[in-house]
Amino acid sequence: MLIDAHTHILSLAGDTDFNTAYGREGSLCIYRSHGKLPSHRMPTEQEWEESGCGKAGFPITGPDASIAAHPGFDKIVVLGVSPQFLEGKLIGTVDTAGITDVSGPASPEKCNDYIAAIVRGDPDRFIGFGSVNPNYRGPKAAVTELERSVRELGLSGVKLYPMYQDWSPADPILGFPLYEKAAELGIPVMIHQAGSTRIDARMEYARPALLDAIGRHFRDLRVIIAHCGIPWIDEALFMLTKHPNFYTEISYYIASATEEELFRFLVHAEQSFVPLEKIFFGTDYPGFLYDPVALMTKLRNVNAHAERVGAEPIPESKLDGIAGDNFARVLGLL
Ligand SMILES: [Zn+2]
Repeated sequence: MLIDAHTHILSLAGDTDFNTAYGREGSLCIYRSHGKLPSHRMPTEQEWEESGCGKAGFPITGPDASIAAHPGFDKIVVLGVSPQFLEGKLIGTVDTAGITDVSGPASPEKCNDYIAAIVRGDPDRFIGFGSVNPNYRGPKAAVTELERSVRELGLSGVKLYPMYQDWSPADPILGFPLYEKAAELGIPVMIHQAGSTRIDARMEYARPALLDAIGRHFRDLRVIIAHCGIPWIDEALFMLTKHPNFYTEISYYIASATEEELFRFLVHAEQSFVPLEKIFFGTDYPGFLYDPVALMTKLRNVNAHAERVGAEPIPESKLDGIAGDNFARVLGLL
């Protein structure tokens, strides 16, 4: 089974200009590293336009585009982004284009309703993870919304974004009530516990080791570390070694690694006592570097580098696991 464990959908802000500016800020470093924009000063509006990247970064994507970008995939996990204020604007997953059947004015407050509507539109293809922010209307409201997203909307998991929302995942007042509810609901929790190229994101709340508190207190809770904790990849792997119910998906990392580096990473993970069964393929689609087909090809080709690296090839069954079977097992689909 092929599964993309990490994708986004719809828009991130009701205001299109803000959406563009948000995408630009997060991807400026990438365009600069590609030589498309000047590296020693901020680009002018004209340079943004000429680079062809001015409107990229956070495209508005509907289910048809997502399915078209995922040929051969059995399942696509769509992750909601819960509401938060950024520079006075309320952002989060929002359907500004009227793609879903969710009624009333578009608002990130309905992020979970939008994700549920996407799943309803094609329940065989999409798996929905909702999102809640305990630092928005408080932990009690977040717990209520989490319960509603699973019991009423039928979502399969929850995605949390502490570093973007200014709270520590180890915070017993803001975080623990959510983990307790997720454990009660029997759903996995995916946490963006990795760096971000957004200037406002708080790196001090991003380290994978902050999840140790969750592993100690909520031993049955399934926790998925998004992006394998990049740039703290070894720290994330160690969390997987230590906690039996911790997993990771490798979006973002897989886009920045070469095929050979990906092979070395998988060998290194096993040598660090991380069973490859704990690792899931993910892309962060529709991020512009994250073509699902190209990234899946990269994964399937890793063994071409085994001889050069001097390590045994990774059994195809283990690569099948990373490509989707592992995540399917965690979700109870296999
Ligand atoms: Zn993402």
